[in-house]
Amino acid sequence: MLEKSKRWWEKGLQNLTADQWELLCDGCGLCCLHKLEDEETGALHYTQLACPLLDTQSCQCRFYAQRFKHVPECMKITPSNYREALPWLPNSCAYKRVAQRLPLPSWHHLLTGERSTIHDVGASVRGRVRSSEGIEEEDYQEYILHWIDADNDNDSVRE
Ligand code: SF4
Ligand code: SF4
Repeated sequence: MLEKSKRWWEKGLQNLTADQWELLCDGCGLCCLHKLEDEETGALHYTQLACPLLDTQSCQCRFYAQRFKHVPECMKITPSNYREALPWLPNSCAYKRVAQRLPLPSWHHLLTGERSTIHDVGASVRGRVRSSEGIEEEDYQEYILHWIDADNDNDSVRE
């Protein structure tokens, strides 16, 4: 277990430097998957379909710097807007967990020292998703995933 003085993320999202903010992202790629909301229950479902700009092997955006030109609906998560994103972020997301005052998952690179651990344990999208290119939106429901949790009531956010 990393000693408390080295767990700088525990000071809360609002108190992170710009570099720490970037470092906190685990690179899972889950937030780049298309999601469906159940009209009756409001429940959020992740699909296996990734934004066409996502490299599904590296789990990185292929055009990160110019992404808004290609995908205007893409949201950059920042210290000023993360609360809006929390309802649809996966429960494993480092930003969501810090906002909920939960520990980072044991596979997080800040704990293991290796960016590859998340892929080794199967917690990223690597090898598990496909591009949404060519799939009609009305067919997205055929691609709903059941291994991603995203509680979207935000009750557990304690910051
Ligand atoms: S879900 Fe969270 S931790 Fe994972 S890539 Fe997206 S912002 Fe980063
Ligand atoms: S544009 Fe890039 S960062 Fe935005 S959702 Fe698509 S792959 Fe993810």
